[in-house]
Amino acid sequence: MAPTVQHYKMITMDLIKELHFMDNDYKLDDDKTFENNNTLLRKDTTDDINSDANFDIVKYEAMEFKSRIKWPDLLAQTSLHLVTIYGAYLILTNTVKFLTIIFAFGTIYTSGFGITAGVHRLWSHRAYKARLPFRILLAILFTITGQKDIYTWALDHRVHHKYSETVADPHDVRRGFWFAHVGWLVLTPHPAVEDRRVALRKISTDLMDDPVVRLQRQFFIPLFILLNVMLPIVIPMYFWEETLLNSFVVSFVTRFTVTLNIAFCVNSFAHLCGNKPYDRFIKSVENSMVSLAALGEGWHNYHHVFPWDYRTSELGRLNLSTKFIDFFAKIGWAYDLKAATPSMILKKVNRSGDGSFHGMEEPDPTSSINCKATD
Ligand SMILES: [Zn+2]
Ligand SMILES: [Zn+2]
Repeated sequence: MAPTVQHYKMITMDLIKELHFMDNDYKLDDDKTFENNNTLLRKDTTDDINSDANFDIVKYEAMEFKSRIKWPDLLAQTSLHLVTIYGAYLILTNTVKFLTIIFAFGTIYTSGFGITAGVHRLWSHRAYKARLPFRILLAILFTITGQKDIYTWALDHRVHHKYSETVADPHDVRRGFWFAHVGWLVLTPHPAVEDRRVALRKISTDLMDDPVVRLQRQFFIPLFILLNVMLPIVIPMYFWEETLLNSFVVSFVTRFTVTLNIAFCVNSFAHLCGNKPYDRFIKSVENSMVSLAALGEGWHNYHHVFPWDYRTSELGRLNLSTKFIDFFAKIGWAYDLKAATPSMILKKVNRSGDGSFHGMEEPDPTSSINCKATD
């Protein structure tokens, strides 16, 4: 029996009922016009076409542009990382209470679902729908991570997918590992990025239509101070008498910086180091190490091919965020889960994969070793 068939026999009927297979929504490259999967070239919807009407990517690509350093952002990132080195020293020298370490890392991995299942799969991609209590929970978890507000994050992520690997991509990996990892946050953006942020704002009205997104944006500063700074510092001090210094360094700064870096890895490593079983013409790759750290977000070749698939990977891949959404689907808080069918996946594999697809087996861990900045 072929591995694909074998694998899908393991799926329960319940799960199949939950998945809304969307053959009709899948945009195949049948006319062979577009080898690149980014939607700038695809013209998916009328809104997309209109939003690109006056946008000349060729002009922007040819433009001479030199980024300037955003000093306050550079100072913030440098400070966070230096204090995190001190946090690692405190942890390694046993200066911090064990419970504080457990709390910091436990918070990293629970709040991480606010990024993966929340701002990414729900708000950026609309890969499923969520009822109000679930959206509130996801917004709280996301705010704990401290990564901007939902609206700004989702908008930038939509720009990234629509204009991947062009000058309009906010973290264009063609500019190298460090630019994609953190450089883009401390440098002024390319004018093409600013142009597309404005354009996508006009067609992303769905985001601000959600009162949860609106309120989280409106009260972002106080929520950030409460959930990302104050509570992580106060909880270890109040419940197990951690010192203020240790709590500040480990539970606030180190936790915050580690979470940031895990998210950064999706933009850097998962666009550079790994294989491309679904589309060899794009830079995003399958990276099992990033997936392990980022709760399933490292299956990035798959994700850029099927960005609307709530699983961001095939079934069978280790993907804790998919299990998290599945759980909430079971209790009725998540619904309308979209997923690619095996036939869609295999068609794409045969058409544009790099030959590394092995049915739906677990990936080869050594695949992450192959790492290159340019093709
Ligand atoms: Zn990406
Ligand atoms: Zn995405």
